[in-house]
Amino acid sequence: MDSIVFGPVPSRRLGLSLGVNNVYNKYCSYSCVYCQAGRTTRLIIDRISFYDPYKLVEAVIREVEEKKPDVVSFVPNGEPTLDKNLGLEARLIKERISVPLAIFTNASLIYREDVVEDLLLFDIVSVKVDTVNEETWRKLNRPHPELSLEKILEGIINFSKKYRGKLITETMLVKNMNTSIEEYEGIADYLSNIRFDKAYIQAPIRPPAEKFVTIPDKDDFLIAYNIFAEKLGENRVEVLNYPEQPLFKFSENLVEEVLRTINVHPIRLDYLKYIADKRGANFEEILDKLLKTGKTMIAEYNGKKFIVPRRKT
Ligand code: SF4
Repeated sequence: MDSIVFGPVPSRRLGLSLGVNNVYNKYCSYSCVYCQAGRTTRLIIDRISFYDPYKLVEAVIREVEEKKPDVVSFVPNGEPTLDKNLGLEARLIKERISVPLAIFTNASLIYREDVVEDLLLFDIVSVKVDTVNEETWRKLNRPHPELSLEKILEGIINFSKKYRGKLITETMLVKNMNTSIEEYEGIADYLSNIRFDKAYIQAPIRPPAEKFVTIPDKDDFLIAYNIFAEKLGENRVEVLNYPEQPLFKFSENLVEEVLRTINVHPIRLDYLKYIADKRGANFEEILDKLLKTGKTMIAEYNGKKFIVPRRKT
């Protein structure tokens, strides 16, 4: 049960974020080409029960008390709203702690009333809007065939009318997939219909599911930013195309903590070395232990080496 809580990891948006991995690896309604958790193995849209919600909540509370994160985030290696116990878990956690509760969803099920009810319980909701173009959506996010982009986009607008917490949007740019002026204008026009707090434009900075995924050029981000800022206001747009600082807050059992974390959040080897050095541990030994578990491997991406879960390529 403990393996479903990881970190805290440094979040570029939220500070130190204790992660809750509330679905099994990798149950998702999308199989995004850039997913840092690898290809989706169970492409589903039915909400099901994953972990015992009471045990999940106990694990979260225990880690919050020990590690004192800035925020608790449901950010699994899959889609968090597939968990049919999500609302119960959010309610139970909020009864016990005052740390803000966040969720990062691809929003694919937001057309459902029960999903909206669950999301309304969170203090911070992040929704994915990589494109408003059906063809791009199918190629980039590779959704479950029964999903409809139109219903999702309409669902996000309806949700934003009801929601009183902090709503953020995430747009991941992948070179030559959604990096055109038409794409940027389409997304920005769409977002102008939504009551949101911040629109983040992101880059795939960690090893992606597909090798062909490439980080866009600086100019792509500049053009996207300018179009978003013009239509939405400068203070509501931010580009996140840089890595976070290596400020992970791990306990003494570094190998175990890294194993839990990389299921969702691959870690750069230079960061792992920084963390090991800081606590006087031997980096080579830690790396050796991680690789000998048979559960991890080293992946190279964009000139950097990462420790990631062992995957079929
Ligand atoms: S990036 Fe998120 S939505 Fe896309 S496949 Fe990965 S877990 Fe699912």
